[in-house]
Amino acid sequence: MIIEPKIRGFICTTAHPVGCATNVQRQIDHVVVKGPIPSSRKRVLVLGCSTGYGLASRIVNTFGSDADTVGVSFERPPAENKPASAGWYNNRAFENRAKAAGRKAVTIEGDAFSDAVKAEAIAAIKANLGQVDLIVYSLASPVRTDPKTGETFRSAIKPYGSSVTSKTLNTTTGEVSEISVEPATEEEAAATVKVMGGEDWELWIAALADAGVLADGFLTLNYTYLGSELTWPIYHKGTLGKAKGDLDRAAAAIRARFGDGAANVVALKAVVTQASSAIPVVPLYGTLLIKVEDEMGLSEGPIQQIDRLFRDKLQGTPAVDDENRIRVDDWELSEPMQAELKKRWAALTTESLPALADLPKYRAEFLKLFGFGLGGVDYSADVDPQVVN
Ligand code: NAD
Repeated sequence: MIIEPKIRGFICTTAHPVGCATNVQRQIDHVVVKGPIPSSRKRVLVLGCSTGYGLASRIVNTFGSDADTVGVSFERPPAENKPASAGWYNNRAFENRAKAAGRKAVTIEGDAFSDAVKAEAIAAIKANLGQVDLIVYSLASPVRTDPKTGETFRSAIKPYGSSVTSKTLNTTTGEVSEISVEPATEEEAAATVKVMGGEDWELWIAALADAGVLADGFLTLNYTYLGSELTWPIYHKGTLGKAKGDLDRAAAAIRARFGDGAANVVALKAVVTQASSAIPVVPLYGTLLIKVEDEMGLSEGPIQQIDRLFRDKLQGTPAVDDENRIRVDDWELSEPMQAELKKRWAALTTESLPALADLPKYRAEFLKLFGFGLGGVDYSADVDPQVVN
């Protein structure tokens, strides 16, 4: 079949197997060209391994540091005439390449919040890695069912305390407008913490410890976004920020049980991923950021960020901020970059957007997440949606 992008709001419902494999290969090339990354952590579990920062983490550890991996993600497999999710294609493309490079790569596709998938992952670790020395938690999900009570919680990405009025962008039409978002109720805020906070991270670490598969001196990382005043009202000071704040609590609890070096939250920069495109205001900030960082020669996507995390920030004892977080958002939050972003933000209108921001590149980055718009891929060719090389 010929597979074309089908965009519904902030999601693309199709994905291209050849394009996704090309995207995975490009990320591998980025790491390989930069050379090996010294690491003693060769047995790695990546939760949320199929796209965005999780996929980049799996690639950097496998192709930079010769690690064997178990990955967990939530996917839609292909049907005869229906493409799979992008993450399903990415997982297969990654496994093929990791195995060709002599690395073990086992992927479990299912609900990482469930006890059943935790048990499956532990069995896969025992069978393939013995133990794990690094656990990367990179799940981004709108919904979580508590495995103990069976209750399902949905996150609500809203301001907390008072309503927020902000500029926003319709990425389909290019229109910049004002939106007002009402604050979350206490129940919505608590549900968001339940979904995106640290509870499931702690459950994973406890389950791995109980099963005896945590290696001595293991490290676990969980990714957060802090951002600047431009996005604080909707993000850092909103329900998502509350949930992310709970990661700091969970990291401290893991350190208290396993030692000072056992857990860190890592603050990463804003990038275009499936998760970030669903957050109000953030896509407008993203179109500005893409342009300004390009102009300053500081452009980074997920693979560049995660490569820098492991290659530069995690060598020796990592430098941390006053909350024990490792900071890779340093370029985005640097004074010159934020000053330029704030100046442009104030001047943003539908008319000025093309000069101040880069919506075409944002859209291209979004399509690439689903394997579309990659050079060297023949999108007019008939492809089997069930086959990935
Ligand atoms: P993403 O949407 O690209 O990836 C999410 C991953 O989670 C996918 O592999 C998906 O399959 C998996 N997943 C979702 N629900 C699952 C479930 N129930 N069971 C198993 N797997 C499941 O997201 P991302 O942007 O890479 O986000 C990853 C982390 O990085 C999040 O904690 C996010 O807050 C953080 N982060 C993102 C940004 C950004 O700008 N995108 C910036 C800083 C930090």
